[in-house]
Amino acid sequence: MVPTMADLQLTDDVPPVADDGVWLACIECGETFAPFDEIRYTCDHCDGLLEVRYDDLPTFDEFEGSGVWRYNAALPFEEGITLPEGDTPLHEMPRLKDDIGVDALRVKHEGMNPTGSFKDRGMTVGVRVAQEVGVDRLACASTGNTSAALAAYGARGGMETLVLLPAGKVAAGKIAQASLHRARILEVDGNFDQCLDIVQDLAARGEAYLLNSLNPFRLEGQKTIGLEIMEEFYADNGEYPDRIVLPVGNAGNTAALYKCFRELVKAGAITEEQVPKLTGVQAEGAAPMVEAIENGYEDTRRWDDVETRATAIRIGNPVNAPKALPGIRETGGTAVAVSDEEITEAQRDIAGEGVGVEPASAASVAGLRKLRREGEVDSDESVVCLTTGHLLKDPEAAAEAGNEPEPVANSTEAVLDLIEEPSSVTETIRRQASKAADAPLVPALVASGLGVAYLYRKLRSKK
Ligand SMILES: *Cc1c(COP(=O)(O)O)cnc(C)c1O
Ligand SMILES: [Zn+2]
Repeated sequence: MVPTMADLQLTDDVPPVADDGVWLACIECGETFAPFDEIRYTCDHCDGLLEVRYDDLPTFDEFEGSGVWRYNAALPFEEGITLPEGDTPLHEMPRLKDDIGVDALRVKHEGMNPTGSFKDRGMTVGVRVAQEVGVDRLACASTGNTSAALAAYGARGGMETLVLLPAGKVAAGKIAQASLHRARILEVDGNFDQCLDIVQDLAARGEAYLLNSLNPFRLEGQKTIGLEIMEEFYADNGEYPDRIVLPVGNAGNTAALYKCFRELVKAGAITEEQVPKLTGVQAEGAAPMVEAIENGYEDTRRWDDVETRATAIRIGNPVNAPKALPGIRETGGTAVAVSDEEITEAQRDIAGEGVGVEPASAASVAGLRKLRREGEVDSDESVVCLTTGHLLKDPEAAAEAGNEPEPVANSTEAVLDLIEEPSSVTETIRRQASKAADAPLVPALVASGLGVAYLYRKLRSKK
């Protein structure tokens, strides 16, 4: 059974197991547990997901400092193992905003965290908890970014890290990070979901401390994405965004954002009407959450075969679905699947505004464009798209999506000859022109001609 809003409701009763006003609660059966006495990731009784609860929830005026630990009044500790993380930019996207056709568009670029993804926000809290419970081996299954973040924060905390990756399905930048930060990397002949099955087994046998997003403390750190968006968007616009669009893999962020908003409402910091609509985007080849939303399922069905170039969200069994599905439904949001072509196109569009993101991140913008086109999103909405990881995480995907380098002889004359010819630059101009015009050929030829003439004159005038 997927919990309803009522099951996820934050209560005023502080159970006797609470430690300094913090405890764990099962979202299925309501059982409560002491937070740090024993290691557990799910409910002892029903195996349901656990959530961190607090006796005292802060409003915005209780936050000070910057980054994740600015929000320590909403976290289980005052400080953690920090590199430091959070405080990421909320970019304006003026051309993309007009092109997609919404009232306001911002991109919250989580690729600007220390290891290049939002996973750092979860790890700064999660590794602090690992210290508290006294473990020395940390482990995760990962599509890449979790392993990079865990390796870095584990190294910082002086702990051993073990990461299980699906062989051949992790982007180069991410493996490089895990490797240099001294993680032990095991490449499993299987997909992410199968890696997670194994790591959960290891954790259950006490062999390692699990730092996948099943660990409820990680989501506490990731909750600060929502707090930053709300504070910054309000400071700039005098209101909160109508909608937040984000890529969905294990649905940890979707769950974390929903928890952020429930806590803000409970604290009286915002009203229920001010909660942004949570809108999840998946790749067509890995879309169990979209399937569940579209069909009104209580829980997701596990997809055994998943495929997408957005490897960070190549996940068929989103473990946080029981927390995230109510988040999408209760906030009035939705979920949508996009093709790999739409993802690549969005990656180019975002890059065209100077912001570099990895493919999974671009899914948010691709999803917004699709929902806007279908009329699911109104033109008068203000929207924040979450971009979860940095462009350099997946250099191969970036090179494939971008312009082709052109070989040229080692002389100015050769360069001039080449740039007079129709080239990949001309190709790009032609592509853009044909996108703008319905009758592509003639305007495209004119545009490309003009483009090349312009470039040529510009270069000549520099000579
Ligand atoms: C982990 C990750 C995701 C998926 O996030 P969930 O919280 O698991 O839904 C999306 N994009 C990138 C780049 C990631 O690293
Ligand atoms: Zn339970």
